[in-house]
Amino acid sequence: VFQLSVPLNFLGSVYRELRQSLLDMETLFNLQKVNVSVKDSPNAKPLALKGGEIKFENVSFGYHPQRPILKNVSFTIPAGNKVAVVGPSGCGKSTILRLLFRYYDVDSGRILIDGQDIRDVTVESLRKAIGVVPQDTPLFNNTIEHNIRYGRTDATDEEVRAVAKRARIADAIAKFPDGYQTKTSALDTETENSLLQNINGILKEKRRTSVFVAHRLRTIFDSDQIIVLKDGVVAEQGTHQQLVDGGTVYASMWAAQEVLSIGTDTDKASSASS
Ligand code: ATP
Repeated sequence: VFQLSVPLNFLGSVYRELRQSLLDMETLFNLQKVNVSVKDSPNAKPLALKGGEIKFENVSFGYHPQRPILKNVSFTIPAGNKVAVVGPSGCGKSTILRLLFRYYDVDSGRILIDGQDIRDVTVESLRKAIGVVPQDTPLFNNTIEHNIRYGRTDATDEEVRAVAKRARIADAIAKFPDGYQTKTSALDTETENSLLQNINGILKEKRRTSVFVAHRLRTIFDSDQIIVLKDGVVAEQGTHQQLVDGGTVYASMWAAQEVLSIGTDTDKASSASS
């Protein structure tokens, strides 16, 4: 089970490692096995990025006609918001991301970014606007520097070092013989967590629109909005608190995860919520 977040790089900065991001993403999405047939429409224009608002309007989709995965799914992610998509395994969370990247076209309804139907813009400009950051699993077999930059590939060397300082890992990094070129797998879980949290913090500062696909709810409870998918529809939507107080699906998922984590992770829980 992997976790994935997709911050949309809507500030218009160019991803130096775009090619690499897409390759990683393809691995993550296991897309090699998929015959991708989506093409530019004859009048496709480059996506005109403004704030990065994402809108799903009555989106229905299935990989096979006889088996719908999403049924009339509608939601709006305001520009700069951090939104998490949660729900039972196989409910279509990753499918939402695949549709956003236009690896498939919707069967009905539409997906808009800043008011533009993604079928009317060039696939290249669409995918250029979207970055991928794996979330809270040690996914990268790569250097510390690479991992910090992954959240924001246009970061300067100074910014990379500032992030490390803020994440309180600069001293630890300095002690590694390879410094910032140390492979991330050398980090302990604690250090790695603070690194990833800080990357998320930077994304927030830069007000990127972010969509997180989450399995572990603890990682997303501070989202601006949580979308709960179940049986192909948006079952619930709101902030963590709203859903815990008034929801049923999310509230029971949260309760179940809390029960599982008691006794193993309580310290982290309290510091994360303070
Ligand atoms: P998980 O929490 O387990 O990662 P998910 O909510 O992200 O799951 P999706 O990956 O979006 O679920 O898949 C939704 C459904 O579509 C699943 O039943 C899955 O088996 C099916 N599915 C996914 N990809 C394909 C594909 N390429 N062809 C056919 N069916 C697919």
